[in-house]
Amino acid sequence: LRRDPHQRLFHGDVRGVLTSIGPVLAEHPEYVDVVGRLCEPERQIVFRVPWVDDAGRTRVNRGFRVQFNSALGPYKGGLRFAPSLDLDTVKFLGFEQVFKNALTGQDIGGGKGGADVDPKTCSPGELMRFCQAFGTELAAHVGAATDVPAGDMGVGPREIGWIYGQYQRIIGFHEPGAFTGKPFVLGGSALRPEATGYGVVYFTQRMLAEQGRDLDGARVVVSGSGNVATYAMDRAITAGATVVGCSDSRGAISEPDGVDVDALREVKARGGSVADYAEKRSGATTSSASPFTLECDVALPCATQNEIGPAEARTLVENGCWVVVEGANGPVTPAAREVLRDAGVGFGPGKAANAGGVAVSALEMQQNAGRERWRAEDVDESLFRIMSDIHDRARHAGERYCGDPTDYENGANAAGFLRVADAVHSLGVV
Ligand code: NDP
Repeated sequence: LRRDPHQRLFHGDVRGVLTSIGPVLAEHPEYVDVVGRLCEPERQIVFRVPWVDDAGRTRVNRGFRVQFNSALGPYKGGLRFAPSLDLDTVKFLGFEQVFKNALTGQDIGGGKGGADVDPKTCSPGELMRFCQAFGTELAAHVGAATDVPAGDMGVGPREIGWIYGQYQRIIGFHEPGAFTGKPFVLGGSALRPEATGYGVVYFTQRMLAEQGRDLDGARVVVSGSGNVATYAMDRAITAGATVVGCSDSRGAISEPDGVDVDALREVKARGGSVADYAEKRSGATTSSASPFTLECDVALPCATQNEIGPAEARTLVENGCWVVVEGANGPVTPAAREVLRDAGVGFGPGKAANAGGVAVSALEMQQNAGRERWRAEDVDESLFRIMSDIHDRARHAGERYCGDPTDYENGANAAGFLRVADAVHSLGVV
């Protein structure tokens, strides 16, 4: 932790994981010397992305790919396009990804990447040229057996298709397994867009079942209205819940009778905001406050990091919330988690709860390797099984190492660490 002391997000996350694994190391002293190797990425690639905008000017952005750990398989993790993206954030996300991927039980290592570009300010033509310039540099570092990027915030199937297109042009042959989250026509898996949001709800259902509850009739608040958020809403509604509020980067809305997700999607697809959606709905109101000030039984933060601090957590507790389950990466701050824990509110950490996306990405790799296409029902069945297994692994490790099966946070860290430490240890020191 003496290295790069300014990387606060990354250090905070490493501290959290190290705090969880004390009892595991007491039982497995052979893994003590693995910890140092796990905290240092195997490779950090930072590169220049020059591209030409619609006015003919050359613009320069910074690209990142942190190849964190490949003990279990090829590096696997998303690409994020966001103006504030920096190496600290990419390392934090990459470190989380290593444990998340290990928890899925699949043979994938962990990595993360992206660029400090703002896709919202680019025309489609600019974004395509940016993706091609980004792909030109990335091509030297990725491949089906080495590093398999996917999408994340600001990067969907369209952008992955453009980056993959450039990769294919450069290498000169088809290698669809080098990227996941591709458009379906290029070998993308059925249900990959839905997977993270659906997985969050499957994980939530397992947590609620342990409390003797279910989603039928529950009031759910979801933050965000992007990929993870809208598919989580869809699945929660299918399970009988009412989504009473949501948000985006411009504000929040409340709709006690239930958000109409298709109508919301339509407004967002046209570049509108949740407030624009609410304007057309008689029962909906807008607010500049956090969506987590709304009364709810289940809170699913699915937008971005640090959305729920101690104040929002206290409000959730006062409102009688049953569980808070992270769809986004790091949306609940450590101090907020303490508030929830002290009040006995169930907490599902993103490392476990939002692993459905990467799990289906690994299924996409499997389909591409076998030149197969699986039916959506089959992918959904596998996704449910994987999320159930993740839930059980985190719960059992919580019980074994913390004496508390509801301690999913420490349990997920312990279970993920055990698997990746076993692999790193088995490979020997190189
Ligand atoms: P999207 O870009 O599709 O959606 C993000 C949503 O969050 C948008 O509605 C956006 O608002 C909103 N948002 C962004 N910043 C803020 C903010 N500061 N305050 C309030 N709302 C905000 O991203 P995804 O849904 O793909 O990802 C969301 C989270 O889930 C991220 O943390 C990501 O790392 C994580 N995740 C995603 C996976 C995936 O498969 N996509 C897999 C695992 C984790 P607006 O609409 O105005 O832009």
